[in-house]
Amino acid sequence: MILHIDMDAFFASIEQAVNPKLKGKPLIVGSRNNRLHTVVCAASYEAKALGIDSGMPSLEAFKLCPNLEFVVADQSKYIWTSEQIFELLKAYGFETIYSSIDEFQLDISEAEDPQGLAKTIQKQIYENFNITASIGIAKNCILSKLASKLNKPNGIAILTHENLEWTLAKVPAKKLCGIGIQTEAIFDSLGIKTCLDLYLKSPQFLESILGQNGLNLYMALHSKDSFNAMQKESEVKSVGHSYTLPRVSENTGFIRAWIRLLSEMVARRLRQKNIAAKTVHLWLSGPEMAHFGAQKSYKEPTDDSHEVYLRALKIMATGGQKTLKIRALGLTCSNLFPANRLLLLKEEKRREALIKTLDSINTKLGDWTIYPAVITLAKKNS
Ligand SMILES: [Mg+2]
Repeated sequence: MILHIDMDAFFASIEQAVNPKLKGKPLIVGSRNNRLHTVVCAASYEAKALGIDSGMPSLEAFKLCPNLEFVVADQSKYIWTSEQIFELLKAYGFETIYSSIDEFQLDISEAEDPQGLAKTIQKQIYENFNITASIGIAKNCILSKLASKLNKPNGIAILTHENLEWTLAKVPAKKLCGIGIQTEAIFDSLGIKTCLDLYLKSPQFLESILGQNGLNLYMALHSKDSFNAMQKESEVKSVGHSYTLPRVSENTGFIRAWIRLLSEMVARRLRQKNIAAKTVHLWLSGPEMAHFGAQKSYKEPTDDSHEVYLRALKIMATGGQKTLKIRALGLTCSNLFPANRLLLLKEEKRREALIKTLDSINTKLGDWTIYPAVITLAKKNS
């Protein structure tokens, strides 16, 4: 069973939580500090009730509600809150995935009382952050995400073997995540109206109309696997980190240590999302070179920190500089695939076991409890 948490009107709710004057009022969060010329990136439930929603030009929103409250988006505040919620959720001890800034998933197959757990999570989030969350529970990721939207805000929906088909029959097919306008048009032409219509189609049929995407959709809908990587992969396009050094450095060992550290951070996030990357992109900048950036793609996707590091070093070598003066550097992995490795070699299996052990130690005892020794060089000098 997967428990999917979707924060209710996340950015707007946070603004209302930190400024009580905004509570109970129609509010929009704009992406730019120009109230009449921006786009609504979040609307409070009071604003939603007036027909205002994210994606709408703010001017239009003000026409619908002239005394609308306006706040400029403060990403760092939302990211901070999101990370705090993630920490709170991880403490429940289930495998936890960061799906997006306002969505999280827990594999609760071992939980005895899913409904009770969902209520406890809602209560704890509310007590800590003064905001609400909606929760969906179902046998896989895509259905739990769908369920989380059924009783918004502050709702819980559990799709069981008994109520699944009955519930899906009431939900339009386009509500399923990943269904775009084009796919919706295809469904319309074939008379697929509800999620149940879709759910009951055979894999052969879905493949005949949507190709590989149809097969993926069938597998996502019917899978009983915990954490199906497919849908996460479509949400994340790349994973990256960058760092500005405290001063310019031309110490190759120090720079390599930083690349190793960034590789560790990026690959760990890939593993948490159950994805692997074929492409590594490295950029470096310093006083003598404006910006060196290059990438390389490999046939085999990887989520192994050391492998990412080796690939990054190869990219650095293509720059051809003998000595480098570096002030900032960044590493990004893209071209992502579900991490379904088939490990054949004994050495690969050993490596996999080692990575799993290191990850579990860091998960249990805190990040950077254990890491490759070379990283101490970066940490010491930063
Ligand atoms: Mg949300």
